[in-house]
Amino acid sequence: MPSPHFTITVLGSGTSVGVPTIGCHCSVCTSSDPRDNRLRPSILVTHGERNILIDTTPDFRTQALRARISHLDAVIFTHSHADHIMGLDDVRPFNFRQRGQIPIFAAPDTMSSIHRCFQYIFDGVKRESNVPQLDARIIDGAPFDVFGLEFVPIPVLHGRQTIYGFRFGDAAYLTDHSEIPESSLDLLAGLDVLFLDALRYKPHPTHSTVDRSTKTVERLNPRRAFFTHICHDLGHERAESMLPPNIRLAYDGLEIHVA
Ligand SMILES: [Zn+2]
Ligand SMILES: [Zn+2]
Ligand SMILES: [Zn+2]
Repeated sequence: MPSPHFTITVLGSGTSVGVPTIGCHCSVCTSSDPRDNRLRPSILVTHGERNILIDTTPDFRTQALRARISHLDAVIFTHSHADHIMGLDDVRPFNFRQRGQIPIFAAPDTMSSIHRCFQYIFDGVKRESNVPQLDARIIDGAPFDVFGLEFVPIPVLHGRQTIYGFRFGDAAYLTDHSEIPESSLDLLAGLDVLFLDALRYKPHPTHSTVDRSTKTVERLNPRRAFFTHICHDLGHERAESMLPPNIRLAYDGLEIHVA
């Protein structure tokens, strides 16, 4: 079967606090290079006419306006940390325009956290104001279809927690992780595009580093790799100049075509 074609738009390439970081005056936070402005981590996968979002960050409204997203067909969640879910309420304008529920996909623990954080969305109580109209679907670890594109959940360790990255066609998006188990590496052969968490140079208990993710790229040998979930320790131009040519830093607004 031929590989599916789609476009990946990076909506946010920053770590949980974003770059610039509140109150910081370092050279990256005050940089004039637009690639050093990083909203919270998320991508949009456009497959045919369908827009599939991975994670709803606290910056989702800004990201949707900036990327001129005119419709939203599905949301897939990696995990329930605040930087990955807190923009969920901002899908409401898509509900108004589309007049239907939007399916959201998440693992059981992630979905129950989303239900707890956004209780008013799911409690079925009739309200005077509008709440997001969502169709919650549980990911059980098996590949699942989203409007004709198959997503394969890739378990990764995010500190002590196991969360999901996703492979779709010849691309994979592995945000927050500190370790990729062997059994998951086996699911990542033959990639065209690989996104990896690379928070900074210094080790971190729940995130990968530039060094660690460079080793993952050497091991998996995708055609192109992009680092994301980046903090203000990395200035785009300088950090990229020290990387091999097949590894680039993702930046907000980057569009990648996978054919
Ligand atoms: Zn995160
Ligand atoms: Zn800074
Ligand atoms: Zn996280």
